[in-house]
Amino acid sequence: MDERAHLDRPATEAVYDSAATAPLSNGAAVSAMADAIEPATLARSGDGLGCHAGATTMREAASAAGKSEILARYAADYPKGPHDQPQSMCPAFGSLRVGLRMRRTATILSGSACCVYGLTFTSHFYGARRTVGYVPFNSETLVTGKLFEDIREAVFKIADPALYDTVIVTNLCVPTASGVPLQLLPKEINGVRIIGIDVPGFGVPTHAEAKDVLAGAMLRYARCEAEAGPVAAPRTRTDKPTITLLGEMFPADPIGIGMMLEPLGLAAGPVVPTREWRELYGALDCAAVAAIHPFYTASVREFEAASRKVIPSAPVGRDGTEAWLDAVGKACGIAQAKIDNAKNGILRAIQGALAATPIKGRVTVSGYEGSELLVARLLIESGAEVPYVGTACPQTRWSDPDREWLQAKGVTVQYRASLEQDIAAVESFEPDLAIGTTPVVQHAKQRAIPAMYFTNLISARPLMGPAGAGSLALVVNAAIAGKARFDRMSAFFEGVGEGHATGVWTEIPQDRPEFKAKYAKQQAATAKSEEAVGC
Ligand code: SF4
Repeated sequence: MDERAHLDRPATEAVYDSAATAPLSNGAAVSAMADAIEPATLARSGDGLGCHAGATTMREAASAAGKSEILARYAADYPKGPHDQPQSMCPAFGSLRVGLRMRRTATILSGSACCVYGLTFTSHFYGARRTVGYVPFNSETLVTGKLFEDIREAVFKIADPALYDTVIVTNLCVPTASGVPLQLLPKEINGVRIIGIDVPGFGVPTHAEAKDVLAGAMLRYARCEAEAGPVAAPRTRTDKPTITLLGEMFPADPIGIGMMLEPLGLAAGPVVPTREWRELYGALDCAAVAAIHPFYTASVREFEAASRKVIPSAPVGRDGTEAWLDAVGKACGIAQAKIDNAKNGILRAIQGALAATPIKGRVTVSGYEGSELLVARLLIESGAEVPYVGTACPQTRWSDPDREWLQAKGVTVQYRASLEQDIAAVESFEPDLAIGTTPVVQHAKQRAIPAMYFTNLISARPLMGPAGAGSLALVVNAAIAGKARFDRMSAFFEGVGEGHATGVWTEIPQDRPEFKAKYAKQQAATAKSEEAVGC
């Protein structure tokens, strides 16, 4: 069946008001939902909403269905622009991954089957090895409120305290646009915490920021628990004041940071997003928070509500480490002499490592992890020329020191960078190496420019302190040295055609620019009317 066929039906046919009067075994929750959702919205919120509906339509429907407050918060926390949305994967992957990495945590998705298929596929591709729960829906269960009842039932079934500390339920695009009221779920069932979040592609721009949606929601819950009474102690305890580390990083980095904090009389605290619930209490119970990744706006709000100071940037390279140790020392009231003493040994080690493994060449950097500016700093301190850094993440005050440092060195820093901007940078700067996302890497390689995938190759090594200095050099220099291989490949394939004539032909296909122009026009008109969402 053509799923879009309903779009062409007369408006009188697609009315769900009478379906909404069907008797249900719902309680007060559904009446509250029904009150919150205008019939007009319900009429629009059936299977007509999905990836093929416009972002504006989805936002309007969600606002009308009672989600205006959450959308306004997302708009403030995760500002868009210069363009609407970076070309990135479904944002919900970020929050899904955070939940799947936590011990004793059950995850349930509520969304279109195609979205859930894609998200579970990607999760397992990245080694989740955990079950992803799914509550399916159809037009009727969505608009009558039965979907909420189904979710509620699923949550009650799965909330077994012997197995789980927490159940996380995520509304994807369609249930969010339809106002499925996860906030009406019980906060706790048999001691199992229930957390409902909305992660729509039309409200959360990147999967990085979706991590913050869930991390922020969990920190808020944990903060309220800690304020209400005693909470579980951490598994391992230090008698030193701790610095909570905000942002997922290479596993060796928290250890390296801990070694740098030791001479200050401090210790590295939990990394947020955490791997188990009780670490959230430890994260909140800190001397200060290091916003290693700068996009955790909701999480920062929770730390600030707990009166914790938040430190920007990260101990990357010589300059970055020096400034960061100063900022940590100041935030924790440590005497300058002690800070200087700590810096002496560490900065010498970093300088030595950087000098021992220099990088020679021009490198463009783009990615969506949030650590792009830090990587660029490290490359520059290693000797590389970095003319451009693009990140899908927004500009926040937590990356200000990095942006200022880079801009002072003449680097173009592009927040919310689009694929077109990243590719234009590769075109105009003609780097010896392009570090970027898959399509950027693909583009560079087609031009015989060595390229490396940011997520798999850069995020998979230490960046902080002495261990980070020099860790990039090995892979970066090896990649730059591969240029001759690319040239050989280009020469080998020379003449096999490109564009419309790509391949080996007995008769080279004729280019039809007029058809392409006509089709492009049609596509542009369709795209404008639909404003593709998320994917
Ligand atoms: S962004 Fe796309 S894949 Fe992700 S939930 Fe929304 S419609 Fe589905």
